[in-house]
Amino acid sequence: MAKEQEKPQKLTPMMAQYTAIKEAHPDCLLFYRMGDFYELFHDDAVTASQVLDIALTKRGKSDGTDIPMCGVPWHSHESYLARLIKAGHRVAICDQTETPEQAKERAKREGLPTSKTLVNRDVVRIVTAGTLTEDNLLDARQSNYLACIATGQGSIIGVSWLDLSTGEFYAQAVSIKNLAGCLESISPNEILVSDKTVQMPDLFDIFMPWDKTITSQGHSLFDAQNAAQRLKSLYNIDTLDSFGTFEPVALTAAGTLIDYAGRTQKGSLPHIRPLQSVMSGTTMEIDAATRRNLEITQTLNGERKGSLLATIDKTVTAAGGRLLSARLANPSTDIETINDRLSEVECLLSHTDIRECLRDILKTVPDTERSLSRLTVGRGSPRDLKAIKDGLKAAEDIRGLLLSHKNNVSALSSISNHLSLSNDETHLLDRLHRALADDLPFLARDGGFIAKGYAPQLDEQRALRQDSKQIMARMQADYATKTGVSTLKITHNNVLGYFIEVTAKHADKLMVHGNDNDRMASDNPFVHRQTLANVVRFTTPELSDLESKIAKASEVALAIEMEIFAQLVTEITALANHIGQRAKAIATLDVATALAQLALDEDYCKPVLNNDTSFNICGGRHPVVEAALRKNGEVFASNDCALEGNDSLWLLTGPNMAGKSTFLRQNALIAILAQCGSYVPAASASIGIIDKVFSRVGASDDLARGRSTFMVEMVETAAILNQATERSLVILDEIGRGTATFDGLSIAWATLEYLHDKIKCRGLFATHYHELTRLTTTLDRLSPHALAVKEWKGEIIFLHEVIKGAADHSYGVHVAQLAGIPTPVIKRSKQVLELLQKSEASGTLATLADDLPLFSAVVKDAETEKTLETDTKLRNALSAIDPDALTPREALEAVYTLKNLLQK
Ligand code: ATP
Repeated sequence: MAKEQEKPQKLTPMMAQYTAIKEAHPDCLLFYRMGDFYELFHDDAVTASQVLDIALTKRGKSDGTDIPMCGVPWHSHESYLARLIKAGHRVAICDQTETPEQAKERAKREGLPTSKTLVNRDVVRIVTAGTLTEDNLLDARQSNYLACIATGQGSIIGVSWLDLSTGEFYAQAVSIKNLAGCLESISPNEILVSDKTVQMPDLFDIFMPWDKTITSQGHSLFDAQNAAQRLKSLYNIDTLDSFGTFEPVALTAAGTLIDYAGRTQKGSLPHIRPLQSVMSGTTMEIDAATRRNLEITQTLNGERKGSLLATIDKTVTAAGGRLLSARLANPSTDIETINDRLSEVECLLSHTDIRECLRDILKTVPDTERSLSRLTVGRGSPRDLKAIKDGLKAAEDIRGLLLSHKNNVSALSSISNHLSLSNDETHLLDRLHRALADDLPFLARDGGFIAKGYAPQLDEQRALRQDSKQIMARMQADYATKTGVSTLKITHNNVLGYFIEVTAKHADKLMVHGNDNDRMASDNPFVHRQTLANVVRFTTPELSDLESKIAKASEVALAIEMEIFAQLVTEITALANHIGQRAKAIATLDVATALAQLALDEDYCKPVLNNDTSFNICGGRHPVVEAALRKNGEVFASNDCALEGNDSLWLLTGPNMAGKSTFLRQNALIAILAQCGSYVPAASASIGIIDKVFSRVGASDDLARGRSTFMVEMVETAAILNQATERSLVILDEIGRGTATFDGLSIAWATLEYLHDKIKCRGLFATHYHELTRLTTTLDRLSPHALAVKEWKGEIIFLHEVIKGAADHSYGVHVAQLAGIPTPVIKRSKQVLELLQKSEASGTLATLADDLPLFSAVVKDAETEKTLETDTKLRNALSAIDPDALTPREALEAVYTLKNLLQK
């Protein structure tokens, strides 16, 4: 008989609720709150269980098949969330929006059965990489930007970026040519782009490296009018004029960004600072390849350790760390800005006592910016209140310190002015000081964070609770006396609440018995609640009464605390702009103090910036290589670099391993540090403002983009030749090395001429093509320089000293030998090299292979040589042995030594 067809199963009310919410958030993993867990179902569960490496279980069936499920504990969900976001997912947090009691009330009102009422749930927030605010999910020392790109009718593109965790908000209009560099300098963790823009062929290559961070949105959301309206309502203003001049397309990006941020936060945005316009040309342009090559904020492996930032960062606050990182990523081109920063550093460098006092205070400053953001978005905790208090207090203390040394620290007056608290802030600080207890819980709803004496009502409820506890202690003593069970105790757990507990052998004394039942029942207050293996538990009407009083007092106390919390948050929100300013001023001071400390510790000098095209570094050093060498007890050899007049382009030759790349990079890094407003690793430095730095160093391929090593090299070289200007600094290392010798030499040759004749920039050009030195006679501003080596007893000593002139050979074979290339290969290379050099001189390169002896002969030679060498060593070792003088153990060891010699 045919099997009865299975009826499609009806979804349970809970799964129906889940499905409806999930359908509204198809692009997110849905964290669905059930009791103490966030549960995930269906494909979400499969994905999350794989990423988080947690068990995949099942719950119920859908269309006859098991529904996969996995869950994460609510109290520790942030760490799981962090891993999912890092893996590139978006997560919708779905919470209960009413209590079970409220759900029952609702059911009653709606005439539904109350026994099976499902509590309402809704998505309260969508967590994405660019919209995080929690400390656990963020890197304290890096900004977390959400960027938005808007295209308009013309070729100008609007870029806006916002850090929701600090409220910093910027907008800029850039040309397509500058978009890649702009994105690199922002380094956003999420980029909003319209589904139409993301398909634009012109932008395809620019978006490619950001593929994983792009969130594509419907094109209709990028609407200029709506965007302007969104900004006006954000700031509650009628016109955006007061914020400065913006290209319309930049405002479209900014408004669309706010709209998206609002949608992820379900309407409640944190405090967002006034939108700042970023003008093109105010920062030094550094393209993606240059940033990578120079390892400014991270190394080629993507790590912070080993980067320029990690080497120079002596900031002691998280906000200071973020500011330094931002400055390094965006050095200024404005002399005034740079000089102001340098004066701040100079002032703090020359006043050791003030600097040390400041650093002591700064070390105690919490991350006020991020606490402010969490409090204003409704995710703050009592500890965030403390951060605001400590931040304001630090501002007050630092201002006091600076005022008391006013005459000495006039360079810090701008920072000092921003540290001055308004009356409202002083009141807030006083209130926070009085309100907050010493020990603060993680969450406001845990209570206990308001200090005694701040709110009389709260103290009353706490006293009631405290009194009840004393009454309970008396009750316990009384019951113990009455029953004669001295070990009787009143205790508490989450299931039973308060109860009386005695060991099993004393339980009878509290129980009601047989015939005495009636009499005992009326006299005996003890009501049995639970019997376990060793203990029996009871309650009494008196105890239940007291318990409900305690519960009530705790409930009322918590409600009062929550109200005070909300009041304080409201006050903080009203002063958010001021508090944000204090935090920024403290971060600025931290950076200046840290750079002063760096200059002192590392012996850096103050650079001189000017408007010409000079570049004159005396005794320059590479900050990262110097620090690494010092760890090994080695000393870095400093070098001069003067790119001026007839020497503005240097052709650098020298052996492998002599220090060419290091020299090239150190000069670019000195320029970047100087324009950041930092002292530099040199004896003196004078630099004409550089608009763009370009560096093409080393070989790497980009297989993901379908580019070979040589293709990458050429793409990067093309970018330099197309974008560099007379004010740029160009650093080229080994151009043309990725192809055949003559092709490479020709490209290097022509590139050098183009830089010299057409672009006329300052530059350093390192090469192993010694033929290029011939160009120094025809190109006026090209000057030959070399890295000096000393040959001594057949060995080569690298002096790491840059001298005027050209190197004659590269000693590549020597370096190969140092690297451990097998002897036959080294010997063969020497033969080939010798012949190549002769053939080149005599013009007989073509017949080279015929002139060489066979490679097998070289291998054989090398083997014979090795055998002879081993024979000699064995003979020497044997003759050193005196058999009669050896103990048995020494004899055995001698055998092992001889055998080892044979095997080497
Ligand atoms: P190649 O041509 O093989 O790329 P290179 O000439 O570019 O070599 P670098 O890579 O710059 O050489 O330097 C090689 C090593 O020499 C560095 O890792 C560093 O340890 C050391 N070095 C470079 N410059 C100096 C210096 N000025 N003082 C001391 N050591 C240095």
